[in-house]
Amino acid sequence: MIEFLNLREVNAPHEAAMRAAFERVLASGRYILGAETEAFEAEFATYCGVRHCIGVGNGLDALHLILRSMDIGPGDEVIVPGNTFIATWLAVSQAGATPVPVDPDPFTCNITAAGITAAITPRTKAIMPVHLYGQPAEMGPIMALAERHGLRVIEDAAQAHGARWAGQRTGGLADAAGFSFYPGKNLGALGDGGAVTTNDSQLAERVRRLRNYGSAVRYQHEVAGYNSRLDELQAALLRARLPHLDAENACRAERARQYLHALQGLDLGLPQVHVEADPVWHLFVVRSARRAALQQALQRAGVGTLVHYPLGNHEQPAYRNPAAAGFVARPLPVTERLASEVLSLPIGPALSALQAAQVAAAVREALALEMI
Ligand SMILES: *Cc1c(COP(=O)(O)O)cnc(C)c1O
Repeated sequence: MIEFLNLREVNAPHEAAMRAAFERVLASGRYILGAETEAFEAEFATYCGVRHCIGVGNGLDALHLILRSMDIGPGDEVIVPGNTFIATWLAVSQAGATPVPVDPDPFTCNITAAGITAAITPRTKAIMPVHLYGQPAEMGPIMALAERHGLRVIEDAAQAHGARWAGQRTGGLADAAGFSFYPGKNLGALGDGGAVTTNDSQLAERVRRLRNYGSAVRYQHEVAGYNSRLDELQAALLRARLPHLDAENACRAERARQYLHALQGLDLGLPQVHVEADPVWHLFVVRSARRAALQQALQRAGVGTLVHYPLGNHEQPAYRNPAAAGFVARPLPVTERLASEVLSLPIGPALSALQAAQVAAAVREALALEMI
């Protein structure tokens, strides 16, 4: 059986460093906002090539606190992809603003400057592109468009730690970025965690305050903030993994190359990479008009797969009534088609070359046997 993702195996090579991290935190007597969080923030900022990193409770909060720090709220529109994890939309909704969904390019699965242009209105305040599946969105054209219209840009980098657009790392490609350290992400903790990265010192200060009850000085609360802090233990565990992130991303890229080669010439849509993009392959997502049959055949062959994501957010019960849930209803035919066709194959730092070859062979066989 080749599992879709085995987190025990992902963390196994880091076990000694993680145990040492735990011992360090336990012995420190300081469990919230201490030396480990500060050190991780400095290390992750350096990794992303930005001036500031602020550790927060999770990826959703990272995006939400950025919007709050930008004073984006009720009456404001934020442009988001139709096809993304629901957190992108919820961050906008929780800030009181309105998500305005746009369809992605069907081949990269990311939103484009052209698609965004059609959704801009006088209420638009920001664009929140997602580097979906680990591939950066086309940040060059998106930043140029934002500048022409005076819009802020927030990267949802929850799936793209270490990815590059035109040679530059995600996290530093826009006004600010939100990261998640959910255990299954490319850089994952042993619990929830997230971070905001930015080069804007004022914005960084605002996020710092908001994550800690709106307080910069103990028991003085300038704004009504939140409790959303990356804790010392998760920060220490992330410090154990960060030095190995590039090597793990390289391993993912090797498996992706293997899949792209082995799955050529089939009745199967393969991921396409923009020439300026250097993805980190959080997911390897193929497209098939007969997805259900393919997924079942792979299951029978002992290959675990998942669907990211089976519904557009506008089709989710949470958002189904545009008036009640508050989003701008726009036609999203590409989002809807992708939702019915996408299938994520196993990929990760612990997936061996042999296992990837077995997965590819199982896909070939499934398409040959089950469907022709
Ligand atoms: C995981 C994820 C988030 C949210 O991260 P959490 O840490 O789970 O809150 C946001 N956006 C995208 C695209 C994600 O994949």
